[in-house]
Amino acid sequence: MKKLLCAMLALMLTLASEGSIKVASLHPLLSDMARVVGGNEVEVVDLFPANGELHAFEPTAADVAAAAGAELVLACGKGVEPYLQDLRDSLPSTTRIVELGATVPDVFIPGTRIADPHWWNSPSAMKRASRALRTELERTFPAGRETFAKGQRLYSRKMDELRRIAVLSFVPIEQEKRILVCSHAAMSHFCKEFGFTAIAVHGVAQESEGDTASLARILSQLRQQKVTCLFYGVNDSPKIMQTIASQVGATTRPLVLDGIYPALGSYEEIFLFNVGNIRKGLFLE
Ligand SMILES: [Zn+2]
Repeated sequence: MKKLLCAMLALMLTLASEGSIKVASLHPLLSDMARVVGGNEVEVVDLFPANGELHAFEPTAADVAAAAGAELVLACGKGVEPYLQDLRDSLPSTTRIVELGATVPDVFIPGTRIADPHWWNSPSAMKRASRALRTELERTFPAGRETFAKGQRLYSRKMDELRRIAVLSFVPIEQEKRILVCSHAAMSHFCKEFGFTAIAVHGVAQESEGDTASLARILSQLRQQKVTCLFYGVNDSPKIMQTIASQVGATTRPLVLDGIYPALGSYEEIFLFNVGNIRKGLFLE
């Protein structure tokens, strides 16, 4: 009898740990958000591979099969996943793809009419997306309403705290020093939130071609504004930024631009890594 009770308890615990809804995610930061907002009611399936490159990733047949077993598939949206329509066509009608970035207002890359898709670099945008996620989870599993409300409040508080830490960290950086020169155009949402000017050497992805005229213009601007530090994406090659830095007398530091860096597990760690490097790079005591 005791053995039977133990077996039943083990089975109950297994069922509980599996969650009531299966949510597949196309970005590690969205997986992180789903775990906090969804709590015990959600089982998260990560489709993005460890060490994957965001702008080059495409789901494999195994990923499509895993997504098909989920009620929701979380995507960044804003064009980050160019394969999304194909994925949608391959999934059963019981699986819905939710583009959480669709709820975040566009921020244009300075001097262009191109919306920067890297919205996760803004904690306010993440907070907004977590509210959209909560609504989607409630729609899928109304009985989890209380859990999702509690999880979303917790997530919002985390984002508010990170925002507060960043604002305080940037206080010593004078307004004219608030220039964030990055290897690809990924920090427009961040810059808008924290009062920086974004300059990108490449376009939305590191692979985008930069032209010679714009590079000459950037060099002239960096010299004129006496920029002290340039930032390269941890997943991008630092060589171009190091070459430019040597020409304008600046240093270089890494930033996690695409929200993916296996050495740092959570959104908090990634965000604080970026805040710390920006402060060290731009605030010279
Ligand atoms: Zn990017």
